[in-house]
Amino acid sequence: MTLANKRLLILPGDGIGPEVMYEVRRIIDWMARHRAVRFEVEEELVGGAAIDAKGRPISEEVVEKAKRADAVLFGAVGGPKWDHLGFDRRPELAILTLRRELGLFANLRPAVVLDPLVDASTLKPEIVRGLDLMIVRESTGGIYFGEPRGIETLPDGRKRGINTEVYTTDEIERVARVAFELARERKKQVCSVEKANVMESGLLWRQTVQALRDREYPDITLSHMYADNCAMQLVRNPRQFDVIVTTNLFGDLLSDLASMLTGSLGMLPSATLGAPDSTGKRYALYEPIHGSAPDIAGKGIANPLAEILSFAMLLRYSFSMQEDARLIERAVTNVLAGGLRTPDIMAPNCAKVGTQVMGEAVVRELDKLVGTA
Ligand code: NAD
Repeated sequence: MTLANKRLLILPGDGIGPEVMYEVRRIIDWMARHRAVRFEVEEELVGGAAIDAKGRPISEEVVEKAKRADAVLFGAVGGPKWDHLGFDRRPELAILTLRRELGLFANLRPAVVLDPLVDASTLKPEIVRGLDLMIVRESTGGIYFGEPRGIETLPDGRKRGINTEVYTTDEIERVARVAFELARERKKQVCSVEKANVMESGLLWRQTVQALRDREYPDITLSHMYADNCAMQLVRNPRQFDVIVTTNLFGDLLSDLASMLTGSLGMLPSATLGAPDSTGKRYALYEPIHGSAPDIAGKGIANPLAEILSFAMLLRYSFSMQEDARLIERAVTNVLAGGLRTPDIMAPNCAKVGTQVMGEAVVRELDKLVGTA
């Protein structure tokens, strides 16, 4: 059976974005050949590339295409060429605009330690081996967006900087719901993280998440943790966690911390999801957590695995194609176990390869796994 109604918008962006995206295209082609899954793929310019071609980091037309697509796969944007531009014209506006226009409020960052890369972590192997946790960060509310905000001058001449942490019950519930749904497909454990001991918004967060769990997700084990303790627990014993759900600010910090448990930026995918509509369809954008890496762009040495794993996440969360997602993840693990490494994850006794050889190796491994080699 050929399923041709999966509309994918691909936005490679700048720097290494197009290089790593090219390797995903190989996998999409492979899937059309061997898995009877055909994607309707459109590709558009965003970021610096769009500024150069059209004067703006993202056009309304591209935003509309993103809304029509079933999922968006993003590369990375930015680079020194555009650093002089004001905040209202910078390449990074492309991703901010997409998040806003598509209402993407739940940022999913998995931290998975693949066995062959267990030594890449700065933590001891016995602490991180087998790690598989998911951080769900609320990404459109909280202190980064709350009002009042600004810097004001007081009557006595001193200045005062203000930001406001603010959450409403519906904002908390919708992101908690994402975490509970994810946990249902995993180990059924959610840890909700805030500072209810010193912040009223944290107390409301805790009460709201607990009430939702009691009402709708009795099958999920819910625990609560203060954010400072969570930071400590993530380096002490990260495997105690399955799904962590937290605010924008704490999620920003904790997800970066968790990503370094795995040791390599070039390996880490992410997803940002919106709310489901009445048909169950939700807007979703997938991207590696790394940037456009201008220092290595054009050299053919970027690690394409974070983008490839972002595509696997897309298959899992936007198309419920669990089996295909697992297949790609297994192919990546096997290629690494076979000793191939891009320079960023190079280890003793391994073979150093570039972007293209790594991408081709994943496709060859997919062939092997489905017996078409
Ligand atoms: P970066 O993630 O681009 O690079 C940090 C370091 O990691 C660099 O040394 C880079 O070479 C390395 N690296 C990153 N991805 C890699 C990969 N796949 N393979 C091998 N090595 C890799 O972060 P930065 O240097 O702080 O930012 C560079 C540009 O990217 C800036 O313009 C920044 O604004 C932009 N940026 C964009 C996004 C995004 O598009 N979502 C995210 C972060 C940064």
